[in-house]
Amino acid sequence: MKRIVVILALILTPISPATAVDIPLVCANKTTFELRTSNVIVGCLVEERSLGEGPIPYSLTAPKVLNETLEWRFKAAQAAAEVDGVSLQITSGYRSIERQKYLFSKAVKKYGSYMAAAKWVAPPEISHHPMGLAIDVNYPRNPSSAKWLEINGYKFGLCRTFKNEWWHFEGNIAPGWKCPKMMKDATVLLNS
Ligand SMILES: [Zn+2]
Repeated sequence: MKRIVVILALILTPISPATAVDIPLVCANKTTFELRTSNVIVGCLVEERSLGEGPIPYSLTAPKVLNETLEWRFKAAQAAAEVDGVSLQITSGYRSIERQKYLFSKAVKKYGSYMAAAKWVAPPEISHHPMGLAIDVNYPRNPSSAKWLEINGYKFGLCRTFKNEWWHFEGNIAPGWKCPKMMKDATVLLNS
């Protein structure tokens, strides 16, 4: 009888979504950057770093550095690219709001208007660089190597975001998910 009660209690206990589904979790070895798929219940090992279970969330406080999960995702991608003989470098990651303002004002001068400039440099109020959530890779000299990241980045949770910027990547998916369709340019963010 006791056993039946226990079983009933187990059946009737609501299961939280996190335990109901075995969501795969990608873990990167901290030394070799090798990837291993775990699940959210088991988690990553001590010698590993979780690459996150979903898109990298926005921080509520203004960060001063590149998001750590994004950095680990990039490091893992960089190591895998190296095996393929491809060199990946972050040429710009975290930027302060002041830096973004400066870059944007320079672009306004160059392109003539706010909207024309916004196609190439995201205005500070929408750019993901000051949020520590965007990286520019191999800019401006090595688009062919950045192409490797465009093709393989999803495994690490990295996607190219804009059609007009081959260098700009964000951690907007969970590792292994499919990257969303690219936006035409940063002005799309202004309208959303
Ligand atoms: Zn960028």
